[in-house]
Amino acid sequence: MADNGATTLQSRLEAAVGKAHILTAEAEMAPYLTDWRGRFHGHALAVARPQSTPEVAAVVHACVEAGVALVPQGGNTGQCGGATPDASGHAVVVSLARMDRVRAIDHDNATLTVEAGATLVAVQEAAREAGLMFPLSLAAEGSCTIGGNLSTNAGGTAVLRYGNTRELVLGVEVVLPDGRIWDGLRGLRKDNTGYDLKQLFIGAEGTLGIVTAVVVKLFAAPRSRGTALVAVADAGAAVQLLRRLKPVLGDRLVGFELMSAYSMQLSQKHMPALPDPLPGHPWYALVQADDSADTSTVAELLESALGAAIEAGIAKDATIAQSLEQAADLWALRENIAEAQRREGPNIKHDISLPVSAIPRFLDEAAGALTLAFPGLVFVTFGHLGDGNLHYNLAAPPGASADAFMANTERANRIVHDLVAAHGGSISAEHGIGQMKREELVRYKSEVELDLMRAIKRALDPRGTMNPGKVL
Ligand SMILES: Cc1cc2nc3c(=O)[nH]c(=O)nc-3n(C[C@H](O)[C@H](O)[C@H](O)COP(=O)(O)OP(=O)(O)OC[C@H]3O[C@@H](n4cnc5c(N)ncnc54)[C@H](O)[C@@H]3O)c2cc1C
Repeated sequence: MADNGATTLQSRLEAAVGKAHILTAEAEMAPYLTDWRGRFHGHALAVARPQSTPEVAAVVHACVEAGVALVPQGGNTGQCGGATPDASGHAVVVSLARMDRVRAIDHDNATLTVEAGATLVAVQEAAREAGLMFPLSLAAEGSCTIGGNLSTNAGGTAVLRYGNTRELVLGVEVVLPDGRIWDGLRGLRKDNTGYDLKQLFIGAEGTLGIVTAVVVKLFAAPRSRGTALVAVADAGAAVQLLRRLKPVLGDRLVGFELMSAYSMQLSQKHMPALPDPLPGHPWYALVQADDSADTSTVAELLESALGAAIEAGIAKDATIAQSLEQAADLWALRENIAEAQRREGPNIKHDISLPVSAIPRFLDEAAGALTLAFPGLVFVTFGHLGDGNLHYNLAAPPGASADAFMANTERANRIVHDLVAAHGGSISAEHGIGQMKREELVRYKSEVELDLMRAIKRALDPRGTMNPGKVL
């Protein structure tokens, strides 16, 4: 921080959170200035690491008075560059990582009040210690934070049964763009007292305020589980299998993931210890069913339903995990795909959702159009089929330069996103908009919807200092 104004801001920030927790050296700030995929790089005046809500409020007040933008950051695992500041170097990154305390657990109400910087794993662990369960689960759970989950309305692997983060949140505490604190930490399942303001902050990607704490719903812990890897001929067969399993398993059906053989092979290539239980098939579904009753026969139910599906020709083969370790190995095949892809090289990524019924047609049409446009390209297709969410990623043809292939992003996006829109889908199922999909949002949202979003942004953040350049 060179000039006088900046020096004043630095001293105010240091007074707010302590000198040790204001980072200004380039090397110290570096991890906060690049996103997980290494696609977005920014600059900042400083990184502030407050430890309490009043400290966050003091940081916001100092920045408001200096006319400096704020970029909230949790675990920095987001996929759209939402937590990365722009190149101007005029923002302060606010890392919530030191705000990680569990404030309260209410057993009878089945709720947990926790600070925004707690990792998702820590939240799951706190619920487990209380004899309950927090169902949000995703591959980045060791690093991502509950505040980041809320701000991106994260989905993950159990949406089929428990819904997105939005459905798991009962209350929030937020430092608003003007520095005021809104204490909305209510643990109520019913509260019809006007606008449901917490919903504004869920999925807002830090553009409307800084979430400092949250009340989440807890559930009965599962006491029996069935996990299976199922080989299928194509996505259409996977959809048929899902339809068959739903009435048999009811709301015990927690997860239904789809993986192409190639995406599973990527996991196995980069994590050679992973199993290869059903080699030689083009597509796989990973199915999980849970029951909180210890008398449950959920694994048997799953096994007999899959047996019937094989007999009916819907599934080709299946393997049922015989232990929790085997179940974890099957899940590792799915959960390591994103990391394996990162190691393999850059991809043109699409996080899309469609009505489940439209997925097989979409896949056929998109494959036809993309292969015509980019002969030889490689599809890395996987995702949460049970809730209509595909990670539809495109890699360079074998032998071609991955970096050169990325120059096709705009053309590929147009083909994929136009088809998604034609099938009534969304261009961002669970990763958000960030800075990556801002232009796409304008292209696919209606003018009325965009107007409403801009009006909300103006009302809460008239100076436009809260995570500028993200979402809108
Ligand atoms: C391997 C891998 C697998 C993943 N799998 C999934 C998945 O299955 N489902 C899914 O939904 N996502 C997934 N993600 C994406 C990512 O983990 C989630 O978006 C996660 O919710 C982000 O949390 P975070 O703490 O890392 O947030 P960050 O990346 O730090 O921030 C994300 C956005 O939220 C804002 N933000 C963060 N904290 C706050 C706060 N306290 N107050 C206000 N704004 C805030 C930031 O400004 C930014 O816009 C995956 C990521 C990786 C790397």
